[in-house]
Amino acid sequence: MKKKEDRISSLDVAMKQVQIAAEKLGLDPGFCEKITKTKRELIVHFPVKMDDGSIKVFTGYRVQHNMTRGPGKGGIRYHPDVDLDEVRALAMWMTWKAAVVNIPFGGAKGGVQCDPKSMSLRELENMTRRFTWEIAIMIGPDQDIPAPDVYTNPQVMAWIMDTYSMLKGYTVHGVVTGKPLELGGSLGRFEATGKGVFVTAQEAARHLNLPIEGARVVVQGCGNVGGIAAQYFDKAGAKVIAISDSKGGMYNKKGLNVSDVLDCKKRYSCLITPGAKDADEITNEELLELDCDILVPSALENQITHKNARKIKAKIIAEGANGPTTPEADAILHDRRIFMVPDILANAGGVTVSYFEWVQNLQELLWNEEDITDRLTRIMKRSFAEVLNISQKEKVDMRTAALILGIGRVAEAQKLRGIYP
Ligand code: NAD
Repeated sequence: MKKKEDRISSLDVAMKQVQIAAEKLGLDPGFCEKITKTKRELIVHFPVKMDDGSIKVFTGYRVQHNMTRGPGKGGIRYHPDVDLDEVRALAMWMTWKAAVVNIPFGGAKGGVQCDPKSMSLRELENMTRRFTWEIAIMIGPDQDIPAPDVYTNPQVMAWIMDTYSMLKGYTVHGVVTGKPLELGGSLGRFEATGKGVFVTAQEAARHLNLPIEGARVVVQGCGNVGGIAAQYFDKAGAKVIAISDSKGGMYNKKGLNVSDVLDCKKRYSCLITPGAKDADEITNEELLELDCDILVPSALENQITHKNARKIKAKIIAEGANGPTTPEADAILHDRRIFMVPDILANAGGVTVSYFEWVQNLQELLWNEEDITDRLTRIMKRSFAEVLNISQKEKVDMRTAALILGIGRVAEAQKLRGIYP
């Protein structure tokens, strides 16, 4: 984990990105000011009864960045580093992401500053339920729909759904997405973000004439996004040569046995498999600089910065995580002709299938997995083609192209709605 003084503000990164795209788009200064600010922010300090009988006060956030194109949408993160600026940045990226894949949602995000690894299941449930109660004035199927993010999962979504439903007096499936299947979750949602990362990386490889079969892939983070993406690359015949968690990673230049490594992580909370004797341990910093074809940062923000961008050897970077690359690093990578599939495109599979889940909940429908996967794949491929097209036409890097597409769609919607009153 990075020391506090080495941390780069995600909000600064998000603002800089908007500035670059806004200049290209020639946006109205008033609109620019509007999109650099969040619409609504709620900070809550709330008590939770811990297992030892003590009371601990937690701080949580829910931020709605922009709702011009639809209700707010965005995950809830449980992490010690969660703060208001991080949640603001993540909410802003959600606005652009939903617009890039042309889903009728706005952008929102939430989180609780906590160390979930040191908490029992019961403490996590108590914290989740109280946090839900605190932010219930802001969320709802027509207002703002949370989903999983770092260290939250379908079980946490189930507690949110239950607490919100208790408050209303009836079951409200559509208040969160990423729920367990038994509670109105959608087939394909758990896999959606990793699948979208794989599909867009595959499109990038096709564009560069790089065969996926045999391609050397490095994945940072092995949670919902990284773990699933690694499995799709593996299934497609790529060689996943390294994968990591917060403690470090495993590396084998001939390729890891992905299912063994992930199984070990699931069972023992560690990546070092007894079967992987020929794999070496590696730090997260070393992993990013490995010689590979496709690098998939799928953990946290600010991993590729001006300090290591010159040492990255990948041909393609597909950002599973939100905000893993700083604008300074972007410029270096672009100069070095490393092809970037930016976060607001690469990891948009999650919000896309969240939208499918929400639609099914509102209409009480149950779509089959094939339908969902086909629709997701079509949207990811179409969005990749649209971003690539802008990048080639406007002669800008892929991130700027994605921002031009996303921010441009929000600007268009704002123009049509006008400014109230
Ligand atoms: P997760 O909690 O399922 O997994 C997080 C992974 O990151 C774990 O493997 C963890 O060990 C690893 N990790 C944590 N700290 C690390 C560190 N300092 N260095 C290296 N690895 C570290 O979370 P997730 O849902 O997979 O989310 C990962 C990223 O993807 C986040 O940036 C999140 O915002 C983004 N994202 C998630 C979704 C989704 O649907 N879950 C959608 C879009 C984007």
